Amino acid sequence: MKIGIIKEKSDNRVAIVPDLVRRLIKEGNELIAEKGCGESSLFADETYTEAGATLVSRNDVLKASEIICTIAPLDPVDYKLLAKDTVVISSYQPYFTLDKTKEAAAHQLTVFSMDMIPRITLAQAMDVLSSMASIAGYKAVILAANHLPKYFPMLTTAAGSIPPAKVLVMGAGVAGLQAIATAKRLGSVVQAFDTRAAAKEEVESLGAKFVEVEGAKDDKAAGGYAVEQTEEYKQRQREKIAEEAAKADVIITTAQLRGKPAPVLITKEVVAQMKNGSVIVDIASSTGGNCELTEDGKTVVKHGVTIIGNSELAADVPNHASQLFSKNVHNFLNIFLKEGKLEIDLENVILKSSCIASKGEVLYKN
Ligand code: NAD
Repeated sequence: MKIGIIKEKSDNRVAIVPDLVRRLIKEGNELIAEKGCGESSLFADETYTEAGATLVSRNDVLKASEIICTIAPLDPVDYKLLAKDTVVISSYQPYFTLDKTKEAAAHQLTVFSMDMIPRITLAQAMDVLSSMASIAGYKAVILAANHLPKYFPMLTTAAGSIPPAKVLVMGAGVAGLQAIATAKRLGSVVQAFDTRAAAKEEVESLGAKFVEVEGAKDDKAAGGYAVEQTEEYKQRQREKIAEEAAKADVIITTAQLRGKPAPVLITKEVVAQMKNGSVIVDIASSTGGNCELTEDGKTVVKHGVTIIGNSELAADVPNHASQLFSKNVHNFLNIFLKEGKLEIDLENVILKSSCIASKGEVLYKN
């Protein structure tokens, strides 16, 4: 199979790194890469050619590819250059952008959306959401420390003592747990909220305090995702958050509801009560944000609080993020790419969930 790699238009990562090029060639494939595709993630063109890829223009990659892997979905204008039945692998988030899927289907492309891979043990090694969320959780804390006009760890010096920073993490999933671990390593005192019952033990195992709110809905049947809570619970949670937020120096918010806007956990009234100079990093900003005053893709200061809205923090660690993304892609390709030949069985549980368009039809169902 001819597998294409392109330079992302607005992302520093690359979907296939040279190491994977080498492996895919050994497995019987041919790799064609756009010149400069790995430049911003520190994989120079020579490393692609050394690994065996052929470097060509973007248009030539699109025209020749039988499989193309990207971080962000291609522009519909690119679809025109792809041959019918090309296998396109990316993260479409079809529940938010069904139009892109419809256009891909209209061009007779076979589209796999990696964010639709089910959360089952078998699929863990191909879970791009988890690998990118983990990096984002780490980077969120580093970013917060950079903006905070205070020190993170406790410091005892001859000039006096400085207490440790107080960090509050909302949403203790993959990103939240990595944020907790990073904030702990930097010496801060960490607390965390989550609605999922399973999160308590994980938070405590990292040495952070779990802030409990009674009466969360059972989420066992939600496949690892959180469920929307009752109004009564939300009110109790808002009160507890207001109490804890006023004491925090840093808040990292990561709470997501699959396919729905992110829950608003920090209202503007709560921001107004926070300490001057404190920092909120809102990783959920692309789906509306967990803080009412978040602006996606921007850093704003409101009531003396720096609010950073950024759901693409993994792209700020592009070298390692690309390596992990690439590993996820390889594990995914292994399901249906055998000795350089496609064997797509849409009855396979992973392919069935992630194939959102095939043979001119949109397969994704809401
Ligand atoms: P996510 O990105 O969907 O959500 C982030 C966190 O926000 C979750 O922990 C969620 O419970 C929490 N949240 C949602 N609404 C909230 C609210 N109102 N208040 C507070 N918190 C709220 O989730 P995620 O980080 O991708 O993963 C969640 C869980 O699924 C984790 O335990 C993870 O280990 C598990 N998981 C399993 C697999 C697998 O088995 N293949 C893959 C990925 C994740």
